[in-house]
Amino acid sequence: MPLLSIIIPCYNEREVLPIFYENLKGTLSEMGCDHELIFVNDGSDDGTDAVLEELAGKDESVIYLELSRNFGKESAMYAGMSNFSGDYVAIMDCDLQDPPSMLPEMLGAVMSGECDMAAARRVDRRGEPPIRSFFARGFYKFVNKISESEIVDGARDFRVMRREIAEIVVSMKEHNRFSKGIFSWVGFKTKWIPYVNHERAAGKTKWSFWRLFGYAIDGIINFSHVPLTIASWFGLFMTFFAFITELVVVVRRLLFDEPVAGWASLVCIIVFIGGLQLFFLGIIGNYIAKLYLESKERPHYIIAKSNRDVKKIG
Ligand code: UDP
Ligand code: MG
Repeated sequence: MPLLSIIIPCYNEREVLPIFYENLKGTLSEMGCDHELIFVNDGSDDGTDAVLEELAGKDESVIYLELSRNFGKESAMYAGMSNFSGDYVAIMDCDLQDPPSMLPEMLGAVMSGECDMAAARRVDRRGEPPIRSFFARGFYKFVNKISESEIVDGARDFRVMRREIAEIVVSMKEHNRFSKGIFSWVGFKTKWIPYVNHERAAGKTKWSFWRLFGYAIDGIINFSHVPLTIASWFGLFMTFFAFITELVVVVRRLLFDEPVAGWASLVCIIVFIGGLQLFFLGIIGNYIAKLYLESKERPHYIIAKSNRDVKKIG
């Protein structure tokens, strides 16, 4: 009987965890599948730890990894993927937006060899603020135009995969992590299973608009050099343009003795170019900042407490 490891990042999810646990257990017992539930408590301060410890006390299959602080969902997933022992690995949120009822179909597809990884894809964004949907759509369009690996619109982190894929993903030690991009970059045969968006069962989303916006910018910078290329091409174009206009000015002055008017427009142009230069410098700065972070090679997560013998730092 193969073992399924389910990795569940949790950050301040005290309210929803018991509901999620019952729901997931129900599905798993119907599936009759051996499993371990790896809850990664990502530095919650609402008593999520007590809920997890209680679950672990009554259920052998519950493993909790308590991170020493909030490291973010990406690091929480990384901590889980560094500490599983199953033949198949699933990742899911604990707010029931990733319905456990999809697990049988996903696991079935991977086990039958139809695919190496089965992932959920949201087909509509109902229940989400319109402005968020608008930017999300725009982001996917843009990122797919400019990046080396395709990120499917509506792709979730909710997926089931063969253990090898999780091992490969853990071996990719980059700190600027964008899992959707990483999963697509490693390749393998992925089956997308569409589903309709569900609202969170309880608790609040941890993603404000600006946090998501920052995440999207990271996604672009981590998987593409195109912003840098745009900066260089734009620079080249401006240089060429400036050269031509200078020629015109000199010729007008020498041949036709026409002095050039337009002090105000000149100031505008200088300010405009100055602004552009700062903007592109900012883009370059972003890449350098990421390089700096990578060069420190700090661990992705630190586990402060667990009910198993685990890899504490990684
Ligand atoms: N999460 C986490 N660390 C964080 C933020 C979120 O582990 O810093 C977890 C959270 O508990 C949930 C999942 O990541 O299980 C998705 O978070 P959320 O539901 O807030 O995001 P949304 O579904 O709104 O995109
Ligand atoms: Mg959610």
